[in-house]
Amino acid sequence: MKKTIGLRIDVDTFRGTARGVGTLCEILEKYNVKGTFYFSVGPDNMGRHLWRLLKPAFLWKMLRTNAAGLYGPEIVLMGTAWPGPRIGKHHADVIRRTAAAGHECGFHAWDHHYAQARLMTMSREAMRKEISRGVDALTEICGAAPRTSAAPGWRANELLLKVKQEFPFTYNSDCRRGQPFYPVVDGEKLSQLQIPVTLPTYDEVLGRDGVGDDNYNDYQLSLLNEDELNVLTIHAEAEGGRCAPMFDAYLKAVLDRGYRVVPLGSIAEETAGTAPSGKMILAEFPGREGVLAVQETK
Ligand SMILES: [Zn+2]
Repeated sequence: MKKTIGLRIDVDTFRGTARGVGTLCEILEKYNVKGTFYFSVGPDNMGRHLWRLLKPAFLWKMLRTNAAGLYGPEIVLMGTAWPGPRIGKHHADVIRRTAAAGHECGFHAWDHHYAQARLMTMSREAMRKEISRGVDALTEICGAAPRTSAAPGWRANELLLKVKQEFPFTYNSDCRRGQPFYPVVDGEKLSQLQIPVTLPTYDEVLGRDGVGDDNYNDYQLSLLNEDELNVLTIHAEAEGGRCAPMFDAYLKAVLDRGYRVVPLGSIAEETAGTAPSGKMILAEFPGREGVLAVQETK
């Protein structure tokens, strides 16, 4: 797949939905680009992340990326003293407008924080319930079931892939590294295509190896592979907020270089049936805490 970038936009929080999604839709409209938005529709409990400040690795990451600056001061209180507000209930119109603008709308999470922290240790039944709640809410908002999903924080295991098979997704984006593949679990080739994210996110690289806001776009551009599919994840909270001008410049730069930027659904259509089989494993990943799902390389 020559000179192609699959664009994926993760929406994790109440604030990101309220403020970031609209900003990103404006930027994408300016360049006539469509992307795949992954929405979180249940309660915003991201404030609970603050407890993780007790972990040194997370504290370091917060300092590196100025998370309070990215996510806003509400993140400090959200979900700590009272149940977080339900994003889909308050901002259904934002999700509908995104779909009406021609973007693909996929399922990210019911409760992003809970799923990111616990999904991988859940039983099959608990996983099913967590996904069902979110998919039902998103289906009600959009009037149609989402055909794609993306595990929060790429925290996905093989059981989760099997559970997802029970939902009407045609493809998912749950892991990092590699090219589109059909996961094989317990010797069985699953029918839902997997589209891995190939490029790092803003929070993963900022403050590492001398990368700052002034050279972030140059760094991202240097990672593009002309001959293979590139998949980029941006966040409504970052690129739809403080980093919006930088993302605008990035989009202009890649289009000027002759890249096409497409939603993941387009890639799924182009590779359906022809993508090879592969295996998803858990591994440590630069810029992230703990393990996450990656495509196994041979
Ligand atoms: Zn997320």
